[in-house]
Amino acid sequence: MPTLTLAHGLVDTDGRRHRDAVLAPPDGRLEELLATTLPPGAGGSVHVRAAVRAGVLAQCLDALGGYERPGADVVAALTRGDGDLVALAVRRALVGDALALVVRCASPVCGELADVDVDVAELLPEVGEPDPEWFDVDAGAHGRARLRAATGVDDAVLDGLDTPADERTATLMDRLVADAHDGAGTAVGPWRALPAPLRTRALVVLATAPTAPTTVLEVGCPSCGAVLELALDPWVLLARELRAGGGRLVLETHCLAFHYGWSQDEVYDLTRERRWAYLALLRAQLTGAALETAVDRG
Ligand SMILES: [Zn+2]
Repeated sequence: MPTLTLAHGLVDTDGRRHRDAVLAPPDGRLEELLATTLPPGAGGSVHVRAAVRAGVLAQCLDALGGYERPGADVVAALTRGDGDLVALAVRRALVGDALALVVRCASPVCGELADVDVDVAELLPEVGEPDPEWFDVDAGAHGRARLRAATGVDDAVLDGLDTPADERTATLMDRLVADAHDGAGTAVGPWRALPAPLRTRALVVLATAPTAPTTVLEVGCPSCGAVLELALDPWVLLARELRAGGGRLVLETHCLAFHYGWSQDEVYDLTRERRWAYLALLRAQLTGAALETAVDRG
């Protein structure tokens, strides 16, 4: 079963870290669960809500350190970076590392569509020593503060707000920042009362310090050479993949159940790779092609 080490993990009430994640087997059952749980609109520029992400994380994790089958309430405490790591790992287990995107060049004189091939393995960060629970923010003469990484719980609070972006930032940073002091050493707060350079520094630390997959890519437009900036959301990638495969899963299950006499449960026990190998064999058998060719391709 696929495993991965989270950068932060969960910290229990005794202060112990739980970083070793065991993913649920990447079989038809998981595919169906994800295809029906992730919102159908998530293939576009849609935001996958924190509550949905937590529900999916719980479905994808067989264990997290000492937590067996952790529930959505437990995994909601994972950092954004850790959640993104799990989403990419589940996508890799289900469909491999290749990610083909089509983007439109942002240059007004070009506007051509560009095919971009991404290797998901290259988006993954090095995960070594655990991330600290608190990151130090130092703005020199403008003060200092500590902050923690945002989690699914924080994102769920933001999802419940219908306010402008700057107010959402203030709400988030009021939750994340602790121990803020100005240059004279006087405690300051809330977020909006912090010296501006300290706020800027804190936002940079939040965006760069916690370990997370690479989600912003720069690629050259093949037509005009302009640099295109691509923002990837691992949850949207996962949702898009599974939505595309949801209808096919029913069809594939039908074919295997019909020809082999297997039950739906038995078909769902197969990984997607194995399911496709049997389908390739079936196709070869039904069309009279050599079976070895199908096995080699599968
Ligand atoms: Zn271009």
